[in-house]
Amino acid sequence: MRSTMPDYPLTIQHFLWRSTTLFPGKEIVTRREQGYHRYTYREFGERVAQLAHGLRELGIGPGDRVATCAWNNYRHLELYFAVPCTGAVLHTLNPRLFPEHLEFIVNDAEDRLVFVDASLVPALARIAGKMPSVRQFVCLSDGPPPESPLTPMLSYEDLLRDKPKTYEWPVIDELDAAAMCYTSGTTGKPKGVVYSHRSTFLHTFGAGLSDCIGLTERDCLLPVVPMFHAMAWGQPYVATMVGATQALPDRFLDPASLVELIRQEGVTVAAGVPTVWIALLQYLEKTGTRLPSVRTVVCGGSALPPALMEGMARQGLRMLHAWGMTETSPLGSVGVVKSTLGKTQEDEMRVRLKQGLPSAGVEARLVSLDTGKDLPWDGQTIGELQVRGPWVATGYYRGADPDRFTADGWLRTGDVVTIDPEGYIQIADRVKDLVKSGGEWISSVELESALMGHPKVLEAAVVGVPHPKWQERPIAFVVPKPDHRGAVTQEEILGFLRPKVAKWWLPDEIRFIDEIPKTSVGKFDKKLLREQAVTPAVAGVRPSE
Ligand code: AMP
Repeated sequence: MRSTMPDYPLTIQHFLWRSTTLFPGKEIVTRREQGYHRYTYREFGERVAQLAHGLRELGIGPGDRVATCAWNNYRHLELYFAVPCTGAVLHTLNPRLFPEHLEFIVNDAEDRLVFVDASLVPALARIAGKMPSVRQFVCLSDGPPPESPLTPMLSYEDLLRDKPKTYEWPVIDELDAAAMCYTSGTTGKPKGVVYSHRSTFLHTFGAGLSDCIGLTERDCLLPVVPMFHAMAWGQPYVATMVGATQALPDRFLDPASLVELIRQEGVTVAAGVPTVWIALLQYLEKTGTRLPSVRTVVCGGSALPPALMEGMARQGLRMLHAWGMTETSPLGSVGVVKSTLGKTQEDEMRVRLKQGLPSAGVEARLVSLDTGKDLPWDGQTIGELQVRGPWVATGYYRGADPDRFTADGWLRTGDVVTIDPEGYIQIADRVKDLVKSGGEWISSVELESALMGHPKVLEAAVVGVPHPKWQERPIAFVVPKPDHRGAVTQEEILGFLRPKVAKWWLPDEIRFIDEIPKTSVGKFDKKLLREQAVTPAVAGVRPSE
């Protein structure tokens, strides 16, 4: 028997309708070089319509790829809506990628238009003349576009000027592409993930649930996570759907600017990677500033170090740990605590530090790396995490790297995890980052968390280096806190680790450095560190020798 319910298309158009109709007076605020830009959802909706007219004028039709190379700001948000709502495909470009990767991505996607922030014109100009599919650049700026080899280039505001403030939105098939984003390409070439309207719609609902990020109309969201990577964890769509106030930081991501924005706008929920929060925590500790409006600091992208969660708790800030991937839209699991758990503060902390329960809509399984068989959820056995669901990719654009997907429709995440009997996922490592020593595995993530618990350590990253006897041995790169530069010894660090980890887990070498190199999305760049690790250090300690 068929239902009496309609085949109502699950498209992003609904969120545009909802925010502009139900919350026309709510605000979207963007940090600027000088001061702030602010307008309402009503004005936002009018400009989205004007932009849609502009896209049509430039010959953009259904399925055409429209790229953006922009920070988190109101114009980028307008593109997040106008492009997919006209039936075209939003393609976010990460300006921090190597030029070869950027060039590959633009050409692989065959972008027709590129909208670029004035401040990012130099980043994109690195590949000027190498984007044959691009017919037009549009500069996101107040004034005329800067001089550059990116031609022809017109101004965004000129494109919108005098256009009608309403648009007859077309009927869109919910399974059509709405947006695409490439993986960061830390191994091999970047691969395209194409999100549909339906997957985005469902992800937005899933992410909005109270047992996920739980954003409401009463909230003011600060997405520090960039809109050019993994759709800013879907936050722009969630915030717009519920009519939350949005506080967008543009390129001003230093702790002082973030604190100013948080305090001025009364931000309640902020989302970003651990490195952002490590820097913010340091700033708060140094200046004695408090952020009383903030109720949740969402942290994902790499493992949340316990010392960070504890430090933020001392500032009255509650962190919410989330896991996801470009391929999972990206929210896959969230560290919410079941009512039956977390009876003591320590228990609760232990649960919240895990990557969490698969979010509603996502199924998970634990699979042996050797045999491919299902493994028990006992919190001990480690294997690869595989996931599936309506917003989890089942293939890459143009069929790249098909081995990442199983024949029965699951995504091989490449993350090595345990899952406990309650269903909580805990990441031990990326498959490629596990240190294989003497036939056993050492979790670099766990070692890093232990290292970052040292009161003099700001950041730490662990990689495996080839070893003639043990196959691989861990070495640790450690950044001391500014007040302790040159004042922390290797023996001190190892002494701190000894009671915390198995003897054979102790790094063979500790290297003190000023900064851990980061990837284009702010994660520790382990590829680069592995290269550096095989170069002998000037100073170091090898306890095994
Ligand atoms: P990306 O597609 O660039 O967002 O990277 C996805 C990868 O980031 C995942 O496969 C994980 O290895 C890592 N990741 C994301 N969130 C977390 C987290 N909360 N803890 C540990 N690793 C994470």
